[in-house]
Amino acid sequence: MTLEQRIAHVEQRLQQACARSGRSREDINIIAVTKYVSVASTLEVIRSGLVHVGENRWQNAQDKWYAARQTASGGDTSATAGQAVWHFIGSLQTNKAKEVVGRFAYVHSLDRLSLAQAIERKAAELGIVVPCFLQVNVSGEDSKHGLAPEELLPFVKELSRFTHIKIEGLMTMAPFEAEPEETRPVFRGLRQLRDELNREAATETPVNGLSMGMSNDFEVAVEEGANWLRLGTILVGKEEE
Ligand SMILES: *Cc1c(COP(=O)(O)O)cnc(C)c1O
Repeated sequence: MTLEQRIAHVEQRLQQACARSGRSREDINIIAVTKYVSVASTLEVIRSGLVHVGENRWQNAQDKWYAARQTASGGDTSATAGQAVWHFIGSLQTNKAKEVVGRFAYVHSLDRLSLAQAIERKAAELGIVVPCFLQVNVSGEDSKHGLAPEELLPFVKELSRFTHIKIEGLMTMAPFEAEPEETRPVFRGLRQLRDELNREAATETPVNGLSMGMSNDFEVAVEEGANWLRLGTILVGKEEE
């Protein structure tokens, strides 16, 4: 399939999931995860009009990030070229925060105090506020990063003293399931945690963001309230090295 066909395919399934669950398509953002593809394919994704781009490691993202910026600042004159909004979606080493803050508009994997301190330090230096998703390990799988659900509220309280971090929402990854329906409790759990934060008025302003749903399970995530989908394989494709 071409990129255009993949976009159309995802869009159709997304609209059906919205219709099933009484949700509005405009409330859902798609992050095109480019980690499996080349610089050229990443630029093609951005040119296609997919605004939000996600990468999980700075090391692999940097060539794409610089190429997109280069494209945006000259040469290619198409209106959307390089106008990407970058999302850092992978687990972030504390010593890499200084590379990511200022280059990526959003961080989806804030899960510990040491990382918050590193983000805060760099953001303060740049004079910016970084919207962050707090990653929660809802499924409890050993292999997954993230806060345990019971650690979330205390962590949010600690974050209130970081003036350069804004809590944009919560993020989770469901285990891979052959039957996507089985991921539902994970996504529902994340939504309930967000609603609990808001009930407790744990943050200055209510938190809305739910970053959940990947290629295998995005329709279930939509039905459970996702408003940021992170789609790699199904949307952007996967290229052999
Ligand atoms: C790779 C990745 C995705 C996208 O995965 P697909 O299954 O290819 O859609 C989403 N979120 C995170 C954190 C990832 O690392």
